[in-house]
Amino acid sequence: MRPQALYEARRSGAAARRLRLERLGRDWGNAAAAPAADRASPVTVTGGHHLLADNAVSAALRRRAEEIDAAFAAIEPVLRALAPLQFEPGFPELAARRVSSELRLEMPESAFAARWNAPLDLSTLHARCVVGTFCRLIERAFDRGLAELSEGESAEALIRRWGFHALDITPCADGRLSGVIDNILRIPPTVVAYRQSYAGANFDVSDSVRHWESVELGRCRAAHPNPADEPTRFMKIGVYHFSSADPAHEGCAAHGSDEKRAAGSLLKRLEQFEAAVRKLHGAGAGVATLLIGVDTDTDAIHVHVPDGAGRMEVGRALCSRVLYDETAGMAREEAKEAIRTAVAAMAGVAADDPTTEGMRWFCGYVLKNNFGQVEAVRRHHGGRYPEAGHGEKLIVVGDAVDDVQLRNLAYQAQMRTVEEGDADLDVGVKVLRHHLAPRGLKLPVLVHCRYDERVPGSAAAAAVQARRLQSAIARRYPEGDLYIAAVLRAGDGSALTPIETLECDA
Ligand SMILES: [Zn+2]
Repeated sequence: MRPQALYEARRSGAAARRLRLERLGRDWGNAAAAPAADRASPVTVTGGHHLLADNAVSAALRRRAEEIDAAFAAIEPVLRALAPLQFEPGFPELAARRVSSELRLEMPESAFAARWNAPLDLSTLHARCVVGTFCRLIERAFDRGLAELSEGESAEALIRRWGFHALDITPCADGRLSGVIDNILRIPPTVVAYRQSYAGANFDVSDSVRHWESVELGRCRAAHPNPADEPTRFMKIGVYHFSSADPAHEGCAAHGSDEKRAAGSLLKRLEQFEAAVRKLHGAGAGVATLLIGVDTDTDAIHVHVPDGAGRMEVGRALCSRVLYDETAGMAREEAKEAIRTAVAAMAGVAADDPTTEGMRWFCGYVLKNNFGQVEAVRRHHGGRYPEAGHGEKLIVVGDAVDDVQLRNLAYQAQMRTVEEGDADLDVGVKVLRHHLAPRGLKLPVLVHCRYDERVPGSAAAAAVQARRLQSAIARRYPEGDLYIAAVLRAGDGSALTPIETLECDA
């Protein structure tokens, strides 16, 4: 098995290394639990650089992370400094000015009105500042096109060349996957048609079928993103997660921290989705599916490479962290070839097998992209994040927000009504209460609903939906420890428009 393969490789160089990469695929394919093999291997802490890890993207993401962290970290000191002054004459004006200058949040003076017998509700103010900061960062419009070019070719052109035209990504709602697209997978938004999160990644199969239909209609009617007669496929990616540091406690809450259950449940949904599209639209309406696991302690990924028939298995996956180590020190082309070898071996096909070529390329693409994140976590956190658990700042309910991404930023649960997403919301409230309640802080909740300005009545309908969600959440959690704001947003997700706040108090 692997330890023996590693020993052989150390002994005899390149030839054995190739054998080892092939075995990475074969042995893990036979192992019941590939993740266990990964867990057993110690995290390598290095300041080294892998030639396939994109340093420029990592540096930009690092600057962004620091800006996001600093924005939220500034809130408590400002409120602490203001709190003792609240009964002084002219306090509301002073407070509004300081919040504007130091937190860059515009809040009315009335928000800071305090009397000796009705002091400021600092817990609510804190939550209001958290939601305000999150909205400000959305409007900040970070450049999400960092990973747009790969070897000088655009992501759109690349994925199409390898047989795909759109991606639909469903991660778990867990906040530790808040950076899954930009940071972990490093896939640019130009090729992501949908990203919706659910507790345990338990997506609704019918919804996903509608996503597929919507994209296919665009191809038939407007040749967007490409003409319908081009032989490309829609790809649905499911992302589950686990914790290598504390597998029994810090894995997916929705699956009782059981990694196999999380992966197995998601794999089943992916299979159901594929079967549903086939049943509804015929065998020619092929979709591709891919199961990916994220180790939330290292941000390494497990890619469950499909075999020659497109089948995936819970216990058969390639780990980016292991592959990174196996290929560290290689020249670029040699490392790429090594990834190709490992992916083909995992798929159980020849390296030049034409039927699996596109999917094997995509698996290599995300593995290589993730090298940058594996390296960044090693460089800045010693290989593992110091906090294995949750630290989300807020809960986002309604339509997805991808403009601002960072690990542990937001627990996102997509839903149209609370009845539809109550289980997801319960998990999120439980998670945030666990770390905010002991600090006496309210849970900031942002209801976010989109509308299409080209459709008459769309904005009004979104406003009704947002208010309905807002009041239903308030009714569901009568404890009074939630601060629930609602915002509407125009656009189809590609363009940012100003956010209209409906009301701020639950
Ligand atoms: Zn989860």
